[in-house]
Amino acid sequence: STILYNDSFLRREQGKVDMEDRGYQFGDGIYEALRVYNGKMFLLDLHMKRLNRSARELRLSLPYDTNHLAENLDRLIRENQIDYGYVYFQITRGAIARKHRFPEQKIDCVLTGSVEAASKDEDLHADGIKVSLLDDIRWLRCDIKTLNLLGNVLANQEAFEQGSDDAILHRDGVVTEGTTCNAFIVKDGVLITHPADHFILNGITRIFVLELAERLGIPVEERTYTTEELRNADEAFITSTGVRVTPVIRIDDQSVGDGKPGLITLRLLRAFNLDVEQFIAE
Ligand code: PLP
Repeated sequence: STILYNDSFLRREQGKVDMEDRGYQFGDGIYEALRVYNGKMFLLDLHMKRLNRSARELRLSLPYDTNHLAENLDRLIRENQIDYGYVYFQITRGAIARKHRFPEQKIDCVLTGSVEAASKDEDLHADGIKVSLLDDIRWLRCDIKTLNLLGNVLANQEAFEQGSDDAILHRDGVVTEGTTCNAFIVKDGVLITHPADHFILNGITRIFVLELAERLGIPVEERTYTTEELRNADEAFITSTGVRVTPVIRIDDQSVGDGKPGLITLRLLRAFNLDVEQFIAE
């Protein structure tokens, strides 16, 4: 397959990273993952906006502007003949002798990108999933999409070992988000999700689902909620680029609501899928 390396297109085997790359040593870098439908990147502008924000927050200067990046990613999709799948790319602060503080001289960022094929509806779990409720042990800047994902990795592994599909995390009883997704509940017809502050990543799918809710006239509260509220919710679901809207029907050994995907969840899921169908047809 072909990969993107800075501004070049290389064969996968040629994509080598320096051992002193700061992404490799410190996780000093940022990334984005997008969905490709019918050869086109879904919600591209929102992803690029978030990339610019992540870069700004880490004082990282991108190697080139996001229009040029989008052109390169388009070419990557075409060269690999991807109709349905994913684009992943990351940008690190570059390679230099290991020191925590930023390099004194200017060094070049390292950008790498790849694509992966997926079937059109892969990862749709409309029947619902089981999650584990686990401690959120991550740092306090979860709003930045950085390569540092150890807190997410450990919780995701623990959930897997508990027989769950993912974990929903909480800080001292306040639900934040999933290890790879945002978390929503529905109570008495109101959609509730953690506000987009430094405790969560403001998911592009989260933004899109909040827009859908407004369009459908579903009342929304962006506020913190407790693990108690999660356990007593009428409905729960997670959102991400990978899983779109996925109902949560079990939390540890307890079912959510009546143990079936909720009505508002399914309304949002259908509206989401219709928008994707429209995007595909455009
Ligand atoms: N929260 C975390 C911690 C994530 O890793 C992700 C996606 O990878 C999300 C939320 C969802 O973000 P998006 O909808 O942009 O995929």
